Amino acid sequence: MGARRGHQYVQGLNDGREVWYGDERINIADHPHFAGSVQGMADYFDYQWEHSEDCLFPSPSSGDPISVSHVRPGSAEDIELRHRAFDRFARYSCGMLGRTPDYVNVVLAGHVSRTDLWEQASSPVFYERISGYQKYVAENDLALTHTIVHATIDKSIGELDGANADLTLQVTDRTEEGLVVRGAKMLATLGPIADEIYVYPATPIKPGYEKYAISFAVPVNTPGVVVVCRDHYGVDQPVVDRPFSSRFDEQDGVVIFDNVTVPWDRVFIDGELDLYNSVNQGTATGNTQQQTALRAAVKLEFAYDLLSEMARITGQDTRPDVITLLGEVHSYLVMTRSVIDHAEQRAHDWGGGAYFLHDDIGVLRTIMPEWMVRVNEIIKTIGSHYLLATPTAAAFDDPRLGPLLERYLPGAREVDARERAMLFRTAWDFAGSALGSRIELYERFYLGSIGRARMLEHVKAQRNGAGGTVKEFLRQSTVPVASLVGD
Ligand SMILES: Cc1cc2nc3c(=O)[nH]c(=O)nc-3n(C[C@H](O)[C@H](O)[C@H](O)COP(=O)(O)OP(=O)(O)OC[C@H]3O[C@@H](n4cnc5c(N)ncnc54)[C@H](O)[C@@H]3O)c2cc1C
Repeated sequence: MGARRGHQYVQGLNDGREVWYGDERINIADHPHFAGSVQGMADYFDYQWEHSEDCLFPSPSSGDPISVSHVRPGSAEDIELRHRAFDRFARYSCGMLGRTPDYVNVVLAGHVSRTDLWEQASSPVFYERISGYQKYVAENDLALTHTIVHATIDKSIGELDGANADLTLQVTDRTEEGLVVRGAKMLATLGPIADEIYVYPATPIKPGYEKYAISFAVPVNTPGVVVVCRDHYGVDQPVVDRPFSSRFDEQDGVVIFDNVTVPWDRVFIDGELDLYNSVNQGTATGNTQQQTALRAAVKLEFAYDLLSEMARITGQDTRPDVITLLGEVHSYLVMTRSVIDHAEQRAHDWGGGAYFLHDDIGVLRTIMPEWMVRVNEIIKTIGSHYLLATPTAAAFDDPRLGPLLERYLPGAREVDARERAMLFRTAWDFAGSALGSRIELYERFYLGSIGRARMLEHVKAQRNGAGGTVKEFLRQSTVPVASLVGD
């Protein structure tokens, strides 16, 4: 079949899945609350056709056009191809959608590309299953979510100990039909409106905890899969008034696996710790973060432009304090693009012919969450009350109200009131609305916490032989100056 259109995606959601919103079991495909989100995702599928030169490529198996996010990267040309596609996909939502389907497609393509890691498995059947699954997802253009974080609640003990032991997804039985699993995983962005859920390794698991070391994929409508939506932040308002909230609430949900039987051909890892602990560790930075970093860059580019327009429209663009803030945001963009370029130029074979970016791309994870939060703060600082003095488009059309608004709410530099309102409504939806706040939380945590990322950065630096300059300096300091200058 190959790449889908939006209407095909929407049809696929009407499949009897168990999705809860509050105390109501809903059919999310036709629930009015979620119509904007569903349409927003449907439009993404149409968008990939509108930009097929960047987003699609001929499937190596069928020849049909499929998403570039399914490329198993094996060369510098593949890195370039993916760069163009990820940049283009991100532009669909100005980077505001974190979990467009290209995200998990890329994760899966990375896992499959590291054929060397799958050689650790007790049987080649596991690799056959996951590579077959990747082809299936690509050829049917499915929208995947992932749910990988343990349902830990008590952080004073191990993630899988004590009270935590019972909560997290685990194997309870093995039957002829498949692996029976029970437990929760924390959060599946897009979960309620995805086609399938891919469960794969996150933090490493120690010996003795094999029942948690599992990876598999199931359709969201599999019996026993229960998706519990968070409050919905999408709004039923025109796009012009709420450009992001009207279509880009990528609804998160908690996924509870209430005794789910996973068919054997969908079980990719079953208790094999070496495999479990290496598949994602050996792909997450160099592979996945090409997509996430490019999305971040597109979002920062948009934020910088938004802020520049806000400053111009309020006549603040010559004030030193405002210019300083604009420069700050632009520096985040330049740094992001520089890290991407650096890591792409130093891409290499990570094993098994998987050609990924240099691991340095991972450094963005240790700092980007703070930049994203800071950008929102700057939007509010420059935006002040203008973010709220923002009548709707319909208000401007009202014969009584419109002229008053035009008269009293214009922008500086002869910008009309409508344009000013639209701009500041966009800024508020970006940084201040309920959805804007949720997206800020997403930026803080979607790649794991910044605390863990920084710890890992230090561990990697030590492993890679960082250090020695201080000892060298001290050694030189003990040598008489005369001998250093060659007297
Ligand atoms: C909007 C949103 C969407 C999400 N979507 C998904 C999804 O689709 N799929 C999925 O699997 N998960 C998803 N997640 C979950 C996400 O992956 C987790 O929230 C994330 O891994 C953080 O988990 P945690 O709170 O257990 O982090 P922890 O690492 O325990 O961190 C908790 C806090 O402690 C701090 N901390 C931790 N270690 C240190 C340290 N050594 N030093 C200093 N501070 C430290 C962190 O910085 C953080 O503030 C989502 C989360 C959010 C908020």
